[in-house]
Amino acid sequence: TKFTDLGLAEPLIKALASKGYENPTPIQVQSIPPLLEGRDLCGIAQTGTGKTAAFALPSLDYFHKNPKPSPLGSCRMLVLSPTRELASQIAASFREYGRFMRLSVETVFGGVPIGKQINRMKAGVDILVATPGRLLDLIEQRALHLRDVEIFVLDEADQMMDLGFIVPLKRIDKMLPTKRQSLFFSATMPKAISELGDRFLRDPVKVSV
Ligand code: AMP
Repeated sequence: TKFTDLGLAEPLIKALASKGYENPTPIQVQSIPPLLEGRDLCGIAQTGTGKTAAFALPSLDYFHKNPKPSPLGSCRMLVLSPTRELASQIAASFREYGRFMRLSVETVFGGVPIGKQINRMKAGVDILVATPGRLLDLIEQRALHLRDVEIFVLDEADQMMDLGFIVPLKRIDKMLPTKRQSLFFSATMPKAISELGDRFLRDPVKVSV
């Protein structure tokens, strides 16, 4: 399989070509077609497998096909990451794959002043990559709400649990609209993690690499 066989929109094919990527990795081959159809997805995959592109490319394809103004004080896509490093990497990937599209990609995490982040949320965001604690702080400060989220990604769920993010995640879950696409990734899938996934997912496609 080549990227050009997967039916991705032209700006994405161009971005992939400029990166020199021709062949999708196994998780990309398994994930991209069902995600393009709007299915939910539960993936067991480690970092280094091409997991980020597996969820970024179909999401960007959705934005290409469903253009809308960036919602002020909210976002159309929310990606939760356990750490600021991973959040920054994910946002950088979205910017690279989305370089031929006009989109706002923002990152928010704790440990830095919140003021600038509040202003960036007010300006409107398409894709928000966040750590759970800071996201809740921004919601409590009324800088942002989650009612416009169309695509939700929970990345590295096992690390989220290890870092004690279970209570914030349950609170975030309650604020998300029921009509949305959800993606859930973890390097391991013990019972506690798959039960967390069940809260977020509806009839998910399961992939494992
Ligand atoms: P990830 O698992 O998302 O952290 O990706 C691991 C690395 O593989 C990143 O540096 C990606 O840019 C790169 N990568 C992702 N997909 C492909 C692909 N299809 N071909 C070559 N490299 C890729």
